[in-house]
Amino acid sequence: MPLTNLIKNIAKLLLTIFLFQYYSDSAESIETLKSNQYLSYSSYVNKSKIFSDSIPIASPEVDTTTKTSCDFKVYFIDVGQGDSEFIQLPNCKTALIDGGPSASKTSKFVSFLKSNNINSIDYVVLTHPHADHFTGLGYVFDNLNVANFYDTKENNPKSSTLQKVREKAKNKEGLNIIYPSAGDTLNWDKDVSVKVLHSCDVPGESSQGDVLNNCSIVIKMTYQNTSILFMGDSEEEVEKELISKYGEELRADVIKVAHHGSATASSAEFLKTVKPKKAYIEVGKNSYGLPVTDIISRIESYGATVHRTDIEETMEYRIIKAVENENIPVEEK
Ligand SMILES: [Zn+2]
Repeated sequence: MPLTNLIKNIAKLLLTIFLFQYYSDSAESIETLKSNQYLSYSSYVNKSKIFSDSIPIASPEVDTTTKTSCDFKVYFIDVGQGDSEFIQLPNCKTALIDGGPSASKTSKFVSFLKSNNINSIDYVVLTHPHADHFTGLGYVFDNLNVANFYDTKENNPKSSTLQKVREKAKNKEGLNIIYPSAGDTLNWDKDVSVKVLHSCDVPGESSQGDVLNNCSIVIKMTYQNTSILFMGDSEEEVEKELISKYGEELRADVIKVAHHGSATASSAEFLKTVKPKKAYIEVGKNSYGLPVTDIISRIESYGATVHRTDIEETMEYRIIKAVENENIPVEEK
């Protein structure tokens, strides 16, 4: 009967409108959620999964990268006594320099990765083979997707954990292992200059602290006229070498202070050359007296504001535009 058909057609139309409305709402919620996530991460939630769920978006997963434009952000992660910096590049790719002193699932480092839904990293760097820098990378190689790993050829033969971490990297499917040399430019983002200023690219081994520290991969990143210098644990010997090799090119707005604010680094001559405005010290509870008070005063005397992870916890440095830089403390989740 025509009336039955009409009712059927109206019902179909209403169902279509309802489904379309529901789908649109879900999609919109995904966008809202994405922008609310702390890392405004390049996440994308499987739409069909959301669509079939009665409650849209319960626990989203960052599984693929679809965004192509992000702010440049550096997180100086509070990992206790050790180093770890997470970087989100303007092309939304990600980098990690060092992984801190612990691979435990309850460590501050792993909590940072989990709370920000970080499941993959494009570029992982191990500055040098000391436990307060490489241990957390064991967790990264076991649990995250990693595309490229930058390492030095210096070995610390007494550390069995180091051998295990490097073994994990070697056995990881699809992982590219690179040993950069001083002067190399890393092609991470077309808008960011990533330059390796120092590295040990010939095989060597030592268990001596200063030898390993002075094998640190030193990286300078420049984006829209703002530069950040990542010093690893390199000491005064490396600083002298860098000054003679690069001179004024060392100038940087931000520095990840070398060796946790130790007196073995941050020489007056070096600070005078770099002229940082902001200095980040990655440090935790330790028995070495770090950071050294005189070193903090010295850094400040050259005009930099000093930030410490043992006091301010994880900090974000963000470059939005050439003239607008912000220092935003990370909120607890
Ligand atoms: Zn260290």
